[in-house]
Amino acid sequence: MTNRLSHRLQNISYSQTIAMSSKARELKNKGYDIINLSLGEPDFLPPNFVLSAAKKAIDEGYHYYTPVSGYLKLKKVICEKFYRDNHLKYNPSQIVVSTGAKQSIMNVLLSLLNKDDEVIIPAPYWVSYLQMVKFCESSPVIVPTIMKNDFKIHPDQLEKAITSKTKLFIFSTPCNPTGSVYSYEELKDLAEVFKKHPKVMILSDEIYEHICYSEKHTSIAIFPDIHHQVITVNGLSKAFSMTGWRIGYIGSAEWVAQSCDKIQGQMTSCANSIAQIAAISALSAHPNQIEYMIKEFEKRKNLVLDMIQEIDGLQICKPNGAFYVFPKISNFFGKKLHGKMIQNSDEFSEFLLEKAQVATVSGSAFGDNECLRISYATSYEKITEALTRIKKVLR
Ligand code: PMP
Ligand code: GLU
Repeated sequence: MTNRLSHRLQNISYSQTIAMSSKARELKNKGYDIINLSLGEPDFLPPNFVLSAAKKAIDEGYHYYTPVSGYLKLKKVICEKFYRDNHLKYNPSQIVVSTGAKQSIMNVLLSLLNKDDEVIIPAPYWVSYLQMVKFCESSPVIVPTIMKNDFKIHPDQLEKAITSKTKLFIFSTPCNPTGSVYSYEELKDLAEVFKKHPKVMILSDEIYEHICYSEKHTSIAIFPDIHHQVITVNGLSKAFSMTGWRIGYIGSAEWVAQSCDKIQGQMTSCANSIAQIAAISALSAHPNQIEYMIKEFEKRKNLVLDMIQEIDGLQICKPNGAFYVFPKISNFFGKKLHGKMIQNSDEFSEFLLEKAQVATVSGSAFGDNECLRISYATSYEKITEALTRIKKVLR
């Protein structure tokens, strides 16, 4: 049967983040006391004013198809948000609202990529970039980065990776899975390289922009010389704790936005109407309305860092954003833990699930086999319990 599937599909794998969280859910349903640190999903309720706006939208009759790229009112609010938070000037014809940032990214890739085009992706990268690029039958060019450099790509590495076939560069800042946040100066140096290669487009995934601690978020589209090369991606899932509402959006050159609109018109028609009205309320609000969540994430981050530093054999670099830590676990490779030989990060993550009943995601999902992703988008108590268990099984 499987050989009837398209080659395109056979070429990609299941999302490891989603696979691990499904496994954790299944084990939990069977009665195991699993603590799930695998999924990047905030545990807060969306803000009350957003919930009220959605309820009102139902009562006011927003039940029908919206324009493909989103309600004009929402696109105007997104433009205002880009200006207010990111100092970026877009007009509504440059905005496309989609069913989550995931769809936004896929729209962009389907718009831009031809077979065999090269796409530069610094590793560690978010799990879906690689698979989406493969799905488009393009060639991913993975550029490894290291913990010592805060897992950031250096402009020389970028320059070396660019060839005549390079179509696109994809990255996230704040980064999932490392938590690294590129500074203004670092982005400026990368922008200097892109300026020399005006045909290379840049997909800047900024879905964690508000979840920043000591480093302020900067959008790479802020540099005028490369502004037209950048597609800025964002969404409501993380900052507003609205993962299930499925709202993502892009700001880009008009020709990119138009092609995303064309694809979306054939694939989904539009994002959910009620969620779009809720998004107007969420994005109109000043970011200080969600500061309480960021403060809580920062407390949890400090807790995770303190507890991980007490575990022998784990190395970590301090994240400045998002809600993940990405410790190096390779000290344990080639060693027997509770009678089990650990050779790689998949086996390490499996071991933690089996012996500590803590679900994490193997670094291999993100292109780094020496690390492990731990999400701290869960309660202080669960984090404490999970890391106590991890410490115990690794002792
Ligand atoms: N980009 C990154 C870096 C993410 O972590 C996520 C999380 N799912 C997404 C995009 C997709 O988000 P959404 O829920 O809006 O599809
Ligand atoms: N982005 C989240 C994560 O990395 C949610 C899962 C997913 O969309 O892959 O865990």
